[in-house]
Amino acid sequence: MASLSLKGIEKVYPNGFVAVKDFNLDIDDKEFIIFVGPSGCGKSTTLRMVAGLEEISGGTLEIDGKTMNNVEPKDRDIAMVFQNYALYPHMTVYDNMAFGLKLRKVPKDEIDKMVREAARILDLDKLLDRKPKALSGGQRQRVAMGRAIVRNPKVFLMDEPLSNLDAKLRVQMRIEISKLHERLGATIIYVTHDQTEAMTLGTRIVVMKDGLVQQVDSPQNLYNNPCNLFVAGFIGSPQMNFLDAAVTIKGQDVSLQVGSYTLKVPASKKKALINGGYDGKTVVLGIRPEHIHDEESFLVQSPDSIVESTIKVYELLGAEVYLYFDVEGTQVTARVNPRTPLRNGDKGRFALDMEKIHFFDKETELTIT
Ligand code: ATP
Repeated sequence: MASLSLKGIEKVYPNGFVAVKDFNLDIDDKEFIIFVGPSGCGKSTTLRMVAGLEEISGGTLEIDGKTMNNVEPKDRDIAMVFQNYALYPHMTVYDNMAFGLKLRKVPKDEIDKMVREAARILDLDKLLDRKPKALSGGQRQRVAMGRAIVRNPKVFLMDEPLSNLDAKLRVQMRIEISKLHERLGATIIYVTHDQTEAMTLGTRIVVMKDGLVQQVDSPQNLYNNPCNLFVAGFIGSPQMNFLDAAVTIKGQDVSLQVGSYTLKVPASKKKALINGGYDGKTVVLGIRPEHIHDEESFLVQSPDSIVESTIKVYELLGAEVYLYFDVEGTQVTARVNPRTPLRNGDKGRFALDMEKIHFFDKETELTIT
């Protein structure tokens, strides 16, 4: 397998639109890298530049230390799996997987060995004689994966490969891809819109916005330590709540004014505001839905961080409940235990877990650390 290096990669489309700006990333052998970001942020463009399907306007792409900018796609030793897996309808599963190898004039017995090995890995052994129309969506997707695997490429590129599948199949295939990554020891770059796919598959996640990389980090670090307001809001579902908070610093006492509520900042969170000189300024307070509690035990423990509101929407999702309510005119979501007695129209009291809060500068939108 392979390591990749993207150095100052840029894409300017012929109409002058700059889709990717100064993209820098070193990818180690066997890494599973995820690109996420809103529609149009440049994920697919970057992937297509790595594949050689799109010309690189600036910067350098290296694979195993060799510059690849002007190398033909077929010579880059990369296999790409798309969301519309585009199987040849008139060919059997076997022939679909063998096709690329035949074109490359690989000896027949070798092709046979490679196709059967890929079929075994993907559990397609019994389907090799079928045509695509006689397969389920998930099986077709596995054939598309098989076609990539038989080529034994250095790098796999996957552009939303599961987005055409229903929810249940997506989960199955997600697990399959994870196993595949283990088994092949492959370097994979994977574009997705799906938070769960990003969080569960990636060794590292690249968050993009408007053609710019915002943060590259492990899933856990992205979730716990987002570098700015955008990443904080983009990673996590339901998303982090944001409230304007006016800071008052008196010696070592730091408090926040959120509308009519005064919240005490715990010792662990004070330093950033004191060192940053935020006394008298308004910052953005971020708190994830799972850190807002309605249980009595939390309310008793945290008398200095309680807000009250009327429940606007109650959503039961089986294992958890989302409660939506307003705090000083801003909609807030709490993720609570299904045992909650609160329903639409009820007045609720909520304790904010102040040990888990985030602060963002209102102007730069950067995390205050
Ligand atoms: P999505 O999640 O919707 O697939 P994406 O992050 O993959 O989005 P890209 O497909 O990389 O986004 O597109 C990035 C930007 O480049 C978009 O604003 C898109 O409109 C623009 N773009 C794509 N192809 C061209 C083109 N051929 N000419 C001009 N602009 C283009």
